Amino acid sequence: MTPACIVATDGWCTTARRVPSPNHDARPQGTAIDMAVLHNISLPPGEFGGDDIERLFTNTLDCASHPFYAGLANLRVAAHFLIRRDGELVQFVSCNERAWHAGVSRWLGRERCNDFSIGIEIEGSDYVPFNEAQYATLAALLPALRQAYPIRHLVGHNDIAPLRKTDPGPFFDWQRVRLF
Ligand SMILES: [Zn+2]
Repeated sequence: MTPACIVATDGWCTTARRVPSPNHDARPQGTAIDMAVLHNISLPPGEFGGDDIERLFTNTLDCASHPFYAGLANLRVAAHFLIRRDGELVQFVSCNERAWHAGVSRWLGRERCNDFSIGIEIEGSDYVPFNEAQYATLAALLPALRQAYPIRHLVGHNDIAPLRKTDPGPFFDWQRVRLF
């Protein structure tokens, strides 16, 4: 039996593989964590598997190993979670901390969505469907986050940074994820 996904008071999910990232800092004091932001990512773009996403999020990516990576040098980013193609859940930052995943962003008049959101990367792209196992992991994670935080908004990166971002992209099936 798969153990239940629980986000403990320290902000770490009990069923996630932990890969701690330094790319976070403290949320502004008193901030309610009320949003989850969905992203897609693949490194190199369009290729799945491998550990380059984990390397990017832990500042250990060899930026000479692929032409695309030159543009990633000195980037300091991480989401709280990554859902890999096989559904594996990886966690980089405690949900209590502010992970650097959204960049310049705005939702319902509020700027800097990193302050009050939890970032979830889904390994994928704008060009291919996501896997059943990934939706299943998301379906377990979202209620666990809601148990731990007053999450009221579920958005895509494209919703909060529409001029810069397209993820999670046209293949993400929003009908399959629900907060409530
Ligand atoms: Zn994104």
